[in-house]
Amino acid sequence: MCNKIFIPQVVYIIRGENMAKYRVIIEPRESCISDMVCVSICPDVFEMNPDDNKSQITEKYREGGNIAVGIISDDLLSCAQDAANACPVQIIRIEKIG
Ligand code: SF4
Repeated sequence: MCNKIFIPQVVYIIRGENMAKYRVIIEPRESCISDMVCVSICPDVFEMNPDDNKSQITEKYREGGNIAVGIISDDLLSCAQDAANACPVQIIRIEKIG
């Protein structure tokens, strides 16, 4: 006699909930020299403000509407960090928040 036990496979697809989050801060934003380095390296996170021609966080990632503070996930950390490292006046800071 042959007994077979079938165990159903359960596949969990987790989208984003378990990803680490990071706060991106441009400070002091007034010190931005408008060379667009961060924008060219990481345009998903950084853009130029058309009014003062200084870098700001793209609307999609802004925290509380603040143009100088954003929240990103792991998928954008590398490009945001590259942009921070390349900023000639070193005003971009990234902090892990969860
Ligand atoms: S890299 Fe730095 S100085 Fe250049 S636009 Fe971005 S924030 Fe401004």
